[in-house]
Amino acid sequence: MSFSNLGLSDKVLAAVAATGYTIPTPIQEKAIPHVLARRDVLGIAQTGTGKTAAFVLPMLTLLEKGRARARMPRTLILEPTRELAAQVKENFDKYGAGQKLNVALLIGGVSFGDQDTKLMRGVDVLIATPGRLLDHTERGGLLLTGVELLVIDEADRMLDMGFIPDIERICKLVPFTRQTLFFTATMPPEIRRITETFLHNPEKVEVSKPASTATTVTQSQVSVGREPHEKREMLRQLLRDAKDLKNAIIFCNRKRDVAVVYKSLQKHGFSVGALHGDMDQSARTASLDQFRKGELPLLVASDVAARGLDIPEVSHVFNFDVPHHPDDYVHRIGRTGRAGRLGTAISIVSPADQKSVAAIEKLIGQSIARADVVPVASTEASPAREQQAERATEDRKPRRDSQRTRGGRNKSRKPEGADRKPHAAEKPAQSQAPSIGRAMPPPAREQHAEPGDHSHLPAFLLRPVRARG
Ligand code: AMP
Repeated sequence: MSFSNLGLSDKVLAAVAATGYTIPTPIQEKAIPHVLARRDVLGIAQTGTGKTAAFVLPMLTLLEKGRARARMPRTLILEPTRELAAQVKENFDKYGAGQKLNVALLIGGVSFGDQDTKLMRGVDVLIATPGRLLDHTERGGLLLTGVELLVIDEADRMLDMGFIPDIERICKLVPFTRQTLFFTATMPPEIRRITETFLHNPEKVEVSKPASTATTVTQSQVSVGREPHEKREMLRQLLRDAKDLKNAIIFCNRKRDVAVVYKSLQKHGFSVGALHGDMDQSARTASLDQFRKGELPLLVASDVAARGLDIPEVSHVFNFDVPHHPDDYVHRIGRTGRAGRLGTAISIVSPADQKSVAAIEKLIGQSIARADVVPVASTEASPAREQQAERATEDRKPRRDSQRTRGGRNKSRKPEGADRKPHAAEKPAQSQAPSIGRAMPPPAREQHAEPGDHSHLPAFLLRPVRARG
């Protein structure tokens, strides 16, 4: 099957050819003809299946005819997070380059005034998060009565985030006769109810079983004790030991922990960014851009911020915490092993996480292999000293350089790297660095004030660390 058999317009086919895609993914193959036939579609597909193009491409074809009127968008796409909304806009920019369409984003963190000016000019495609959209309709600056096509994307995530009442309100503001495309990775009862209420005789298109995990992802779990520092030690060790690690997302359950893990990794010389819902929009975008471009190989993230992000070729996913909702596990590890590539997902499991692991194993219908990783720091150095060092480097606010030299940093970091023997599976930095090549920064020794301090780290995970405070 090729794209040319799906009924897409010549302009859209040319745009697809320009991206280099030659074969539609299963969701594209199944959904696009129904969308073009103006049918409602219920798409059950995870992110990573190519589902964005499954609605963007036929929408571009349909939008070639007709014109937008002021304050009355022709099509509306609802996304649960700002990042996903921005990503869908990028898809329109990419595939719709040859068309003069007005595509507007209505997301939080951006001024109302600018958004209002765009709406006034007339919008062909409006991509919005539910809250901001309703703010605009309530202010009277936006009429949804001209919407011919509504897309509700990542519906199960909308449910997790408490957006379902907003979605119901929005569905009542758009014309009854509109076409609706509804995408979800799973079908919990509440989502089923919504589809029964708001879709008209939909074509059901399913590309993988709900909550199934890709066979290209190697999943494992490692056990740690109750103390929070044990997870951080284990994470560092896993990062150092990881084979073929190009880039990784490290998931935490809480925003607070995203910040703690981010700071901890940064202090230990890793090159890392962070992504969570409390960061302002520009900081979120900057982190994501740096990660996408490979400038930061590690990203610590919360579920809400990372859901559905289009980050190609993530080699590793680490669950710093096991997610409370088993569905989130499927979504998290769906960041790796995409489009048939190999991926690795490792969960760090404390006694408090055991219950969540059991729920995940039940959902995915398989057990997650237990890997035996002996925590180097707490066995080879004196545990008390290690713990003290951990606290000195991670739990406190960054201190002045003078203090650091005297008490905390030098002493605390030395036992961890320099005094211990390398872990059995740990390669010396020299043998790891060449696979990454010259694009990576010079070895740690040239960049850090403390020679040898990070020499056990793969070079590509090192960037100059600027001391703050
Ligand atoms: P999505 O599921 O929409 O997040 O898409 C996942 C990734 O697949 C994105 O990086 C897309 O650019 C890519 N993609 C979409 N359609 C195709 C295709 N037909 N062939 C190869 N890659 C694709």
